Amino acid sequence: MSDLESSVGEGTKALFGMALDELRTLAVSWGESAYRGVQIHGALYRQLAGSVEEMTVLPLALRERIAAEGWSVARPEMVQTATSVDGTERYLMRMGDGETVETVWMPEGDGGERGDGSEAAAEEMGEVDGETAGASTALRSAQDDSFVGGRKRWQDIGVLEQKGYRRATICISSQVGCAVNCQFCLTAKLGIRRNLTAGEIAGQVAAVLARHGVVVGRDRINLVFMGMGEPFLNYDEFMKSVHLLVKGMAIPESRMTVSTSGIEPAIRRFAMETIRPKLALSLNASNDVVRERIMPITRKWNIEALLEAVGTIPLTKREYVTFEYVLLGKVNDQPEHAREVLALLRGMRAKVNLIVWNPGPGIAYEQPLPEDVAVFQKMLIDGGMPAYIRRPRGRDIYAACGQLKRTVDEPLVSIR
Ligand code: SAH
Ligand code: SF4
Repeated sequence: MSDLESSVGEGTKALFGMALDELRTLAVSWGESAYRGVQIHGALYRQLAGSVEEMTVLPLALRERIAAEGWSVARPEMVQTATSVDGTERYLMRMGDGETVETVWMPEGDGGERGDGSEAAAEEMGEVDGETAGASTALRSAQDDSFVGGRKRWQDIGVLEQKGYRRATICISSQVGCAVNCQFCLTAKLGIRRNLTAGEIAGQVAAVLARHGVVVGRDRINLVFMGMGEPFLNYDEFMKSVHLLVKGMAIPESRMTVSTSGIEPAIRRFAMETIRPKLALSLNASNDVVRERIMPITRKWNIEALLEAVGTIPLTKREYVTFEYVLLGKVNDQPEHAREVLALLRGMRAKVNLIVWNPGPGIAYEQPLPEDVAVFQKMLIDGGMPAYIRRPRGRDIYAACGQLKRTVDEPLVSIR
């Protein structure tokens, strides 16, 4: 087996996932010019060709030859889909070895970007804040004069009519299962089965973009590494996928957010990357005692160590670090917890995303009371910390945060 084959996994000849220089070298190894590698790169990542046959930029004879030699695109295959009443879609993605992960498409995002200083945040906050900016709302608003924003807004409405969304967020998985064992998370129940490769991570995005006919550059796409798995326990492949997405698929890293449960050495490595998504840290508790209970990994790296590591990230001018905080009824959602969060984050360029816990079978927590959520948010804001409540997306199809699991056994509709 050549180095190139082994770099994409034992015995596989997968093109998707290879970087430009690797594809150029591969083309030369076939006795072709390096430029063929450039063409394959464009076909895989810009045209989103799903098979060698579809790489029409290559001469037919070459396509036939490489397919006969066993080369294939081999990006994850969308095998099942479920659609929520709110437009969210959840996909079951199958890898070459039969393992599956889930990927989620959220037209109009989920509100997670608000206040983080990104382009996506500016777009979101300029739209209808605090509610799901569904088609009917926006269209109704467009018809009365109180709808602010002028021409740009009217263009948005045109896009909305054509495509059913003005921007969308894709939530990607990084591992099959997860080893971290957070007590409130359904993915944790699976344990860890394996890491995804960079191609399998970026390939989820390619498959979803192809399904929706998205043209990157024209359409506004945000990515969140918040699906199944802990990206920072699969650091190298995760970062390689970021490079594929940025350099291959032309999605700017400023439109990407990675969420970690808090792997301290990886946060420090991440701080030194020149191309990197924005960071979200799943804080989820205001002190180590509660956090150890709900996130046992806190015994390895406590809150102080994590905040110190986050502090080493050189933030860009408009960038804020997001702290995610899953509200579990009576466990971490009381006023004393809000006060502790304020004390922890004082002085940091930070914002807090409050996530109302999404229930899952066999998980014995309670959802917080709406009034407790409201008080918690108000206390943070009054204390000077921007705080947003994440819109739950796709709860009816188990696509919301922490509800992702390989669900072949659940009632999903087949792919259309
Ligand atoms: N492993 C990474 C990213 C995936 S989880 C991490 O933990 O950060 C993405 C987010 O969903 C995390 O903030 C996590 O705390 C949250 N989450 C997990 N289970 C949840 C649930 N049942 N309800 C709401 N949020 C949940
Ligand atoms: Fe893993 Fe994140 Fe779920 Fe924790 S919350 S078990 S780190 S996926």
